[in-house]
Amino acid sequence: MRINEHVLNLESSYLFSLIGQKVNKHKLERGNQNVLNLGIGDVTLPLAPVVVEAMANAVAEMGAPDSFRGYGDEQGYLFLRQAVCGYYRKKNVELSEQEIFIGDGAKSDLGNILDLFSKDNTVLISDPTYPVYVDTNKMDGRNIVYVEGTVENHFLPLPDRNLQADIIYLCSPNNPTGAVYTKEQLQMWVDYALDNSAIILFDSCYERFIQNRDLPTSIYEINGAKECAIEFCSLSKTAGFTGVRCGYTIVPKELIRDGASLNALWLRRQSTKFNGVSYITQRGAAAVFSDQGLLQTEENIQYYMENARLITQRLDSLGIWYVGGVNAPYVWMKCPDDMTSWEYFDHLLSSAHVIGTPGSGFGSKGEGFFRLTSFARRRDIIAALERF
Ligand code: PLP
Repeated sequence: MRINEHVLNLESSYLFSLIGQKVNKHKLERGNQNVLNLGIGDVTLPLAPVVVEAMANAVAEMGAPDSFRGYGDEQGYLFLRQAVCGYYRKKNVELSEQEIFIGDGAKSDLGNILDLFSKDNTVLISDPTYPVYVDTNKMDGRNIVYVEGTVENHFLPLPDRNLQADIIYLCSPNNPTGAVYTKEQLQMWVDYALDNSAIILFDSCYERFIQNRDLPTSIYEINGAKECAIEFCSLSKTAGFTGVRCGYTIVPKELIRDGASLNALWLRRQSTKFNGVSYITQRGAAAVFSDQGLLQTEENIQYYMENARLITQRLDSLGIWYVGGVNAPYVWMKCPDDMTSWEYFDHLLSSAHVIGTPGSGFGSKGEGFFRLTSFARRRDIIAALERF
């Protein structure tokens, strides 16, 4: 047996373990200081009541002989896929239930979709980026080219016609930068993908944080996207499902490459390697898309967005450059005094007992930047900002 050399050669993911080590050392040396965490990428508010009720009812159904269920539908229960279609109809995006695939969150599907693509494809990724896009392709040994996020382009890189790519990752609203593409900018990416017969893998996990109604919340709001894009979305951040686990992937019927339907191939892949999300979880997810569910989850989103507003207000008053925070739960700030990302991390920890995430952990172009998130509790945000 020989191990996949690409997995062996992966760099270890040290970002969050190094942060943990530094915080532990700080606490040991400085006494049990109350270290405030603005680096947290996990949600802190509980599930909406309507979701809890739906899941409790589903548990009761599973415990009664007449309503017990075993394996579910291969693509996910129809009631949930219909609820997702209804949600997209409100965005003026028409989808059929056969185009929706329910999964256990976006991370798995973003990695698993690569089963459909040959290893000799070239992949285009923004730098800085959500690291999963890079590592999952490195595991397969694919060639990766990067487009750079910079202060000048507000961390929204656009297609470079000199670069040839087959698979393109876009994340909007973006993790880590919180930047959001406009319709015109996404149209440029769709046109580029169509000209190159490429596929866009569009990560819309933070779409509900968009406050400006002119900004697109789905790639399918863009002309031609159904011929070139797969969309990945998740209830993790929008409805507090990071621990419950549920998301969905949209593979349009129009998506054809090498004469094959990607929708049919993804169904073939999923029905071979995946046996679905629990009935209880899917009932909870469907409740998110009910009128009451949308209202209750919106309250949580507005809580996080108020946190983000407090962060950006403080950065404004300090004259610090940043993007994000207005239509996303992430704020991407420039480190003061030309510090590197880790220098600023150490400085903030030792002088203010506050932590965030060093931008260099998201790619070389993240060096000199720092990610703050709005997922902490309000009192921690306020206390941290006072110390800033
Ligand atoms: N995509 C992005 C950009 C994310 O930031 C995250 C989680 O942090 C995910 C995907 C994964 O989310 P999930 O919990 O649905 O697997």
